[in-house]
Amino acid sequence: MSIEPVFSPQRPILVAGPCAAESESQIMAAARSLQGSGIALFRAGLWKPRTRPGAFEGVGAIGLKWLQRVRQETGLSVTTEVATAQHVEACLTYSVDVLWLGARTTANPFSVQEIADALRGVDIPVLVKNPVNPDLKLWIGAFERLYSAGVRRLAAVHRGFSSYGDSMYRNAPRWQIAIDLMQALPGIEILCDISHICGRRDTLAETAQKAYDLNYDGLMVEVHPSPDEAWSDASQQITPAEFQRLVSTLVRRALTNDDPDFLASLENCRRAIDEIDEEIIALIARRMELVRDIGLIKKEKNVAVLQPERFRALREALLLRGQKNELSQEFITLLLEAIHQESINQQERLLNTQRVSSERRGAP
Ligand code: PEP
Ligand code: MN
Repeated sequence: MSIEPVFSPQRPILVAGPCAAESESQIMAAARSLQGSGIALFRAGLWKPRTRPGAFEGVGAIGLKWLQRVRQETGLSVTTEVATAQHVEACLTYSVDVLWLGARTTANPFSVQEIADALRGVDIPVLVKNPVNPDLKLWIGAFERLYSAGVRRLAAVHRGFSSYGDSMYRNAPRWQIAIDLMQALPGIEILCDISHICGRRDTLAETAQKAYDLNYDGLMVEVHPSPDEAWSDASQQITPAEFQRLVSTLVRRALTNDDPDFLASLENCRRAIDEIDEEIIALIARRMELVRDIGLIKKEKNVAVLQPERFRALREALLLRGQKNELSQEFITLLLEAIHQESINQQERLLNTQRVSSERRGAP
Protein backbone atom coordinates (compact mmCIF):
# COMPACT_ATOMS: atom_id res chain seq x y z
CA MET A 1 0.00 0.00 0.00
CA SER A 2 1.22 3.46 -0.66
CA ILE A 3 -0.82 5.41 1.85
CA GLU A 4 -0.86 9.19 1.54
CA PRO A 5 -0.86 11.67 4.43
CA VAL A 6 -4.11 13.16 5.73
CA PHE A 7 -2.46 16.15 7.38
CA SER A 8 0.02 18.88 6.47
CA PRO A 9 3.65 18.23 7.53
CA GLN A 10 3.29 20.53 10.53
CA ARG A 11 3.70 18.67 13.86
CA PRO A 12 2.15 17.93 16.29
CA ILE A 13 -1.21 17.17 14.66
CA LEU A 14 -3.98 18.00 17.13
CA VAL A 15 -7.56 16.80 16.79
CA ALA A 16 -9.83 18.12 19.50
CA GLY A 17 -13.50 18.59 20.30
CA PRO A 18 -16.26 17.05 22.37
CA CYS A 19 -16.93 13.34 22.62
CA ALA A 20 -20.38 14.03 21.20
CA ALA A 21 -22.34 16.84 19.62
CA GLU A 22 -25.13 17.61 22.13
CA SER A 23 -26.71 20.82 20.86
CA GLU A 24 -25.93 23.51 18.33
CA SER A 25 -24.90 25.93 21.08
CA GLN A 26 -22.58 23.39 22.74
CA ILE A 27 -20.92 22.61 19.38
CA MET A 28 -20.50 26.28 18.48
CA ALA A 29 -19.10 27.10 21.94
CA ALA A 30 -16.63 24.21 21.72
CA ALA A 31 -15.53 25.16 18.21
CA ARG A 32 -15.15 28.89 19.00
CA SER A 33 -13.06 28.10 22.05
CA LEU A 34 -10.72 26.01 19.91
CA GLN A 35 -10.50 28.50 17.05
CA GLY A 36 -6.91 29.72 16.68
CA SER A 37 -5.57 26.99 18.98
CA GLY A 38 -3.68 25.34 16.13
CA ILE A 39 -5.84 22.23 15.91
CA ALA A 40 -5.87 20.46 12.55
CA LEU A 41 -9.39 19.09 12.97
CA PHE A 42 -12.44 19.66 15.14
CA ARG A 43 -14.02 16.39 16.25
CA ALA A 44 -17.56 15.61 17.46
CA GLY A 45 -19.40 12.29 17.44
CA LEU A 46 -22.93 12.33 15.98
CA TRP A 47 -23.66 8.60 16.16
CA LYS A 48 -22.30 7.25 19.43
CA PRO A 49 -21.63 3.53 19.86
CA ARG A 50 -22.66 2.92 23.46
CA THR A 51 -21.94 -0.22 25.43
CA ARG A 52 -25.46 -0.50 26.84
CA PRO A 53 -28.80 0.79 25.49
CA GLY A 54 -30.37 3.73 27.23
CA ALA A 55 -27.20 5.83 27.24
CA PHE A 56 -27.04 8.92 25.02
CA GLU A 57 -26.64 7.55 21.49
CA GLY A 58 -25.81 10.80 19.76
CA VAL A 59 -27.95 13.45 18.06
CA GLY A 60 -27.59 11.78 14.65
CA ALA A 61 -27.81 13.47 11.25
CA ILE A 62 -29.18 16.75 12.63
CA GLY A 63 -25.68 17.49 13.96
CA LEU A 64 -24.30 17.60 10.41
CA LYS A 65 -25.80 21.09 10.01
CA TRP A 66 -24.00 22.19 13.18
CA LEU A 67 -20.68 20.85 11.87
CA GLN A 68 -21.29 22.68 8.62
CA ARG A 69 -21.83 25.87 10.62
CA VAL A 70 -18.55 25.23 12.47
CA ARG A 71 -16.73 25.03 9.13
CA GLN A 72 -18.34 28.19 7.82
CA GLU A 73 -18.03 30.35 10.93
CA THR A 74 -14.71 29.24 12.40
CA GLY A 75 -12.82 27.92 9.36
CA LEU A 76 -12.01 24.73 11.27
CA SER A 77 -12.04 21.43 9.38
CA VAL A 78 -14.38 18.89 10.95
CA THR A 79 -14.46 15.14 11.50
CA THR A 80 -17.01 12.66 12.82
CA GLU A 81 -17.36 8.92 13.29
CA VAL A 82 -19.07 6.79 10.64
CA ALA A 83 -20.23 3.25 11.27
CA THR A 84 -22.58 2.53 8.34
CA ALA A 85 -22.93 3.37 4.64
CA GLN A 86 -25.82 5.73 5.53
CA HIS A 87 -23.55 7.68 7.89
CA VAL A 88 -21.01 7.99 5.07
CA GLU A 89 -23.63 9.24 2.59
CA ALA A 90 -24.95 11.79 5.09
CA CYS A 91 -21.43 13.09 5.87
CA LEU A 92 -20.60 13.43 2.18
CA THR A 93 -23.80 15.44 1.60
CA TYR A 94 -22.74 17.89 4.31
CA SER A 95 -19.06 18.10 3.22
CA VAL A 96 -17.53 16.72 6.41
CA ASP A 97 -13.76 17.06 5.81
CA VAL A 98 -12.49 13.81 7.34
CA LEU A 99 -14.25 10.63 8.52
CA TRP A 100 -13.17 8.35 11.32
CA LEU A 101 -13.84 4.68 11.97
CA GLY A 102 -14.48 3.90 15.64
CA ALA A 103 -12.88 1.04 17.53
CA ARG A 104 -15.98 -1.14 17.44
CA THR A 105 -16.32 -0.66 13.69
CA THR A 106 -12.68 -1.51 12.94
CA ALA A 107 -13.26 -4.76 14.84
CA ASN A 108 -16.01 -5.75 12.38
CA PRO A 109 -14.85 -6.53 8.82
CA PHE A 110 -18.47 -6.49 7.51
CA SER A 111 -18.91 -2.89 8.68
CA VAL A 112 -15.50 -1.82 7.40
CA GLN A 113 -16.27 -3.35 4.00
CA GLU A 114 -19.66 -1.63 3.88
CA ILE A 115 -18.00 1.73 4.58
CA ALA A 116 -15.19 1.05 2.10
CA ASP A 117 -17.79 0.25 -0.60
CA ALA A 118 -19.66 3.48 0.19
CA LEU A 119 -16.39 5.37 -0.28
CA ARG A 120 -15.53 3.92 -3.69
CA GLY A 121 -14.70 6.79 -6.01
CA VAL A 122 -14.83 9.39 -3.22
CA ASP A 123 -11.73 11.40 -2.32
CA ILE A 124 -12.06 11.91 1.43
CA PRO A 125 -9.46 11.15 4.14
CA VAL A 126 -10.27 8.53 6.78
CA LEU A 127 -8.83 8.02 10.26
CA VAL A 128 -8.92 4.42 11.47
CA LYS A 129 -9.02 3.76 15.19
CA ASN A 130 -7.55 0.51 16.46
CA PRO A 131 -10.07 -2.31 17.00
CA VAL A 132 -11.31 -2.77 20.59
CA ASN A 133 -9.50 -6.11 20.78
CA PRO A 134 -5.71 -6.26 20.57
CA ASP A 135 -5.47 -7.59 17.03
CA LEU A 136 -2.94 -5.86 14.78
CA LYS A 137 -4.08 -7.77 11.68
CA LEU A 138 -7.66 -6.55 12.10
CA TRP A 139 -6.39 -2.97 12.30
CA ILE A 140 -4.25 -3.42 9.18
CA GLY A 141 -7.17 -5.22 7.49
CA ALA A 142 -9.32 -2.11 7.85
CA PHE A 143 -6.64 -0.01 6.09
CA GLU A 144 -6.45 -2.63 3.34
CA ARG A 145 -10.22 -2.67 2.77
CA LEU A 146 -10.35 1.14 2.52
CA TYR A 147 -7.24 1.26 0.35
CA SER A 148 -8.65 -1.37 -2.04
CA ALA A 149 -11.75 0.83 -2.42
CA GLY A 150 -9.46 3.65 -3.56
CA VAL A 151 -9.16 5.64 -0.31
CA ARG A 152 -5.54 6.81 -0.27
CA ARG A 153 -5.40 9.41 2.48
CA LEU A 154 -5.45 7.32 5.64
CA ALA A 155 -4.16 7.83 9.19
CA ALA A 156 -4.26 5.78 12.38
CA VAL A 157 -5.66 6.61 15.80
CA HIS A 158 -4.44 4.56 18.76
CA ARG A 159 -7.18 4.56 21.43
CA GLY A 160 -6.14 1.56 23.52
CA PHE A 161 -7.67 -1.90 23.91
CA SER A 162 -10.50 -3.29 26.03
CA SER A 163 -9.47 -5.36 28.99
CA TYR A 164 -11.39 -7.02 31.75
CA GLY A 165 -10.75 -6.15 35.37
CA ASP A 166 -9.15 -3.25 37.17
CA SER A 167 -6.56 -1.14 35.46
CA MET A 168 -5.46 2.45 35.68
CA TYR A 169 -6.55 2.82 32.04
CA ARG A 170 -10.02 2.74 30.55
CA ASN A 171 -8.44 1.06 27.53
CA ALA A 172 -5.01 -0.47 27.99
CA PRO A 173 -2.58 1.25 25.61
CA ARG A 174 -0.55 -1.87 24.67
CA TRP A 175 1.96 0.51 23.05
CA GLN A 176 3.74 -2.31 21.27
CA ILE A 177 0.73 -2.92 19.01
CA ALA A 178 0.83 0.70 17.81
CA ILE A 179 4.60 0.44 17.35
CA ASP A 180 4.04 -2.74 15.32
CA LEU A 181 1.53 -0.84 13.16
CA MET A 182 4.16 1.85 12.51
CA GLN A 183 6.53 -0.92 11.38
CA ALA A 184 3.90 -2.58 9.20
CA LEU A 185 2.75 0.66 7.54
CA PRO A 186 5.91 2.80 7.51
CA GLY A 187 5.30 6.52 7.38
CA ILE A 188 1.61 6.34 8.29
CA GLU A 189 0.48 9.26 10.43
CA ILE A 190 -0.55 8.09 13.88
CA LEU A 191 -2.39 10.00 16.59
CA CYS A 192 -2.82 8.96 20.19
CA ASP A 193 -6.39 9.27 21.51
CA ILE A 194 -5.36 9.89 25.10
CA SER A 195 -8.97 10.49 26.22
CA HIS A 196 -10.19 6.97 25.47
CA ILE A 197 -6.97 5.37 26.69
CA CYS A 198 -7.08 7.18 30.05
CA GLY A 199 -10.80 7.52 30.71
CA ARG A 200 -9.89 10.17 33.29
CA ARG A 201 -8.29 13.59 33.35
CA ASP A 202 -5.36 13.24 35.71
CA THR A 203 -3.33 10.85 33.54
CA LEU A 204 -3.86 12.59 30.18
CA ALA A 205 -0.62 14.58 30.29
CA GLU A 206 1.70 11.69 31.11
CA THR A 207 0.03 9.52 28.45
CA ALA A 208 0.35 12.27 25.85
CA GLN A 209 4.02 12.74 26.72
CA LYS A 210 4.60 9.01 26.38
CA ALA A 211 3.04 9.17 22.89
CA TYR A 212 5.33 12.06 21.96
CA ASP A 213 8.33 10.14 23.31
CA LEU A 214 7.33 7.30 20.98
CA ASN A 215 7.28 9.77 18.10
CA TYR A 216 3.54 9.83 17.45
CA ASP A 217 2.51 12.52 15.00
CA GLY A 218 -0.09 13.99 17.31
CA LEU A 219 -3.06 13.57 19.60
CA MET A 220 -6.83 13.24 19.59
CA VAL A 221 -8.31 14.82 22.73
CA GLU A 222 -11.90 15.18 23.92
CA VAL A 223 -12.52 18.84 24.78
CA HIS A 224 -15.88 20.11 26.05
CA PRO A 225 -16.98 23.60 27.14
CA SER A 226 -18.27 22.15 30.44
CA PRO A 227 -16.89 18.62 30.78
CA ASP A 228 -18.66 17.71 34.01
CA GLU A 229 -22.00 18.19 32.28
CA ALA A 230 -21.09 16.23 29.14
CA TRP A 231 -23.70 13.69 28.02
CA SER A 232 -21.05 11.06 27.31
CA ASP A 233 -17.51 10.37 28.59
CA ALA A 234 -17.72 13.24 31.11
CA SER A 235 -14.90 11.95 33.31
CA GLN A 236 -12.29 12.09 30.54
CA GLN A 237 -13.15 15.38 28.86
CA ILE A 238 -11.31 18.63 29.61
CA THR A 239 -12.03 22.32 29.09
CA PRO A 240 -10.49 24.25 26.18
CA ALA A 241 -8.24 26.07 28.69
CA GLU A 242 -7.03 22.76 30.15
CA PHE A 243 -6.40 21.53 26.62
CA GLN A 244 -4.20 24.56 25.86
CA ARG A 245 -2.29 24.02 29.10
CA LEU A 246 -1.83 20.33 28.39
CA VAL A 247 -0.49 20.94 24.89
CA SER A 248 1.89 23.65 26.06
CA THR A 249 3.47 21.44 28.76
CA LEU A 250 4.31 18.59 26.38
CA VAL A 251 7.81 18.20 25.00
CA ARG A 252 8.33 17.11 21.41
CA ARG A 253 11.51 15.08 20.82
CA ALA A 254 13.66 14.97 17.71
CA LEU A 255 13.79 11.60 15.96
CA THR A 256 17.58 11.56 16.17
CA ASN A 257 20.68 13.71 16.61
CA ASP A 258 24.05 13.47 14.83
CA ASP A 259 26.26 14.36 17.81
CA PRO A 260 28.97 11.59 17.86
CA ASP A 261 28.90 11.27 21.68
CA PHE A 262 25.15 10.82 21.64
CA LEU A 263 25.42 8.20 18.88
CA ALA A 264 28.22 6.34 20.71
CA SER A 265 26.31 6.11 24.01
CA LEU A 266 23.20 5.03 22.16
CA GLU A 267 25.17 2.31 20.40
CA ASN A 268 26.67 1.08 23.72
CA CYS A 269 23.30 0.89 25.41
CA ARG A 270 21.79 -0.89 22.42
CA ARG A 271 24.57 -3.49 22.44
CA ALA A 272 23.98 -4.13 26.14
CA ILE A 273 20.24 -4.41 25.52
CA ASP A 274 20.79 -6.92 22.70
CA GLU A 275 22.88 -9.08 25.05
CA ILE A 276 20.23 -8.93 27.75
CA ASP A 277 17.54 -9.90 25.24
CA GLU A 278 19.61 -12.92 24.23
CA GLU A 279 19.93 -13.92 27.88
CA ILE A 280 16.19 -13.50 28.40
CA ILE A 281 15.45 -15.90 25.52
CA ALA A 282 18.03 -18.41 26.80
CA LEU A 283 16.50 -18.25 30.29
CA ILE A 284 12.98 -18.74 28.95
CA ALA A 285 14.18 -21.71 26.90
CA ARG A 286 15.66 -23.23 30.08
CA ARG A 287 12.38 -22.56 31.89
CA MET A 288 10.52 -24.41 29.13
CA GLU A 289 12.81 -27.45 29.52
CA LEU A 290 11.76 -27.63 33.17
CA VAL A 291 8.15 -27.15 32.14
CA ARG A 292 8.42 -30.15 29.81
CA ASP A 293 9.96 -32.22 32.65
CA ILE A 294 6.97 -31.33 34.82
CA GLY A 295 4.70 -32.27 31.92
CA LEU A 296 6.14 -35.78 31.92
CA ILE A 297 5.81 -36.14 35.68
CA LYS A 298 2.18 -34.94 35.53
CA LYS A 299 1.47 -37.37 32.72
CA GLU A 300 2.80 -40.29 34.77
CA LYS A 301 0.37 -39.49 37.57
CA ASN A 302 -2.42 -38.45 35.17
CA VAL A 303 -2.54 -34.89 36.56
CA ALA A 304 -4.06 -31.96 34.58
CA VAL A 305 -1.76 -29.59 32.68
CA LEU A 306 -3.46 -26.44 34.01
CA GLN A 307 -2.96 -25.83 37.72
CA PRO A 308 -4.98 -22.72 38.66
CA GLU A 309 -3.69 -22.53 42.24
CA ARG A 310 -0.07 -22.62 41.13
CA PHE A 311 -0.75 -19.92 38.50
CA ARG A 312 -2.42 -17.69 41.08
CA ALA A 313 0.50 -18.01 43.51
CA LEU A 314 3.01 -17.40 40.73
CA ARG A 315 1.14 -14.29 39.61
CA GLU A 316 1.02 -12.84 43.10
CA ALA A 317 4.71 -13.43 43.72
CA LEU A 318 5.70 -11.90 40.39
CA LEU A 319 3.45 -8.87 40.79
CA LEU A 320 5.12 -8.15 44.11
CA ARG A 321 8.57 -8.58 42.61
CA GLY A 322 7.54 -6.40 39.67
CA GLN A 323 6.35 -3.68 42.00
CA LYS A 324 9.69 -3.70 43.84
CA ASN A 325 11.46 -3.29 40.50
CA GLU A 326 9.19 -0.54 39.22
CA LEU A 327 7.58 -2.75 36.57
CA SER A 328 3.89 -2.08 35.96
CA GLN A 329 1.19 -4.52 36.90
CA GLU A 330 0.01 -4.49 33.29
CA PHE A 331 3.43 -5.55 32.02
CA ILE A 332 3.94 -8.31 34.60
CA THR A 333 0.47 -9.70 33.87
CA LEU A 334 1.07 -9.75 30.12
CA LEU A 335 4.51 -11.30 30.53
CA LEU A 336 3.30 -13.98 32.87
CA GLU A 337 0.30 -14.80 30.71
CA ALA A 338 2.51 -15.17 27.65
CA ILE A 339 4.99 -17.41 29.46
CA HIS A 340 2.23 -19.45 31.05
CA GLN A 341 0.44 -19.94 27.75
CA GLU A 342 3.64 -21.10 26.07
CA SER A 343 4.29 -23.48 29.00
CA ILE A 344 0.84 -25.04 28.61
CA ASN A 345 1.31 -25.32 24.84
CA GLN A 346 4.69 -27.01 25.30
CA GLN A 347 3.29 -29.51 27.81
CA GLU A 348 0.31 -30.31 25.60
CA ARG A 349 2.52 -30.72 22.55
CA LEU A 350 4.74 -33.05 24.51
CA LEU A 351 1.81 -35.15 25.66
CA ASN A 352 0.34 -35.28 22.14
CA THR A 353 3.60 -36.32 20.48
CA GLN A 354 4.08 -38.96 23.15
CA ARG A 355 0.61 -40.28 22.49
CA VAL A 356 1.13 -40.34 18.73
CA SER A 357 4.47 -42.14 19.00
CA SER A 358 3.14 -44.70 21.44
CA GLU A 359 0.12 -45.29 19.17
CA ARG A 360 2.54 -45.82 16.30
CA ARG A 361 4.39 -48.36 18.39
CA GLY A 362 1.05 -50.06 18.92
CA ALA A 363 0.95 -49.34 22.64
CA PRO A 364 -2.51 -49.16 24.22
C1 PEP B 1 -15.03 8.50 20.37
O1 PEP B 1 -14.00 8.89 19.82
O2 PEP B 1 -15.80 9.24 20.96
C2 PEP B 1 -15.28 7.04 20.40
C3 PEP B 1 -16.48 6.51 20.55
O3 PEP B 1 -14.16 6.37 20.27
P1 PEP B 1 -13.80 4.80 20.22
O4 PEP B 1 -14.32 4.29 18.92
O5 PEP B 1 -12.32 4.87 20.28
O6 PEP B 1 -14.42 4.15 21.43
MN1 MN C 1 -15.86 9.53 23.73
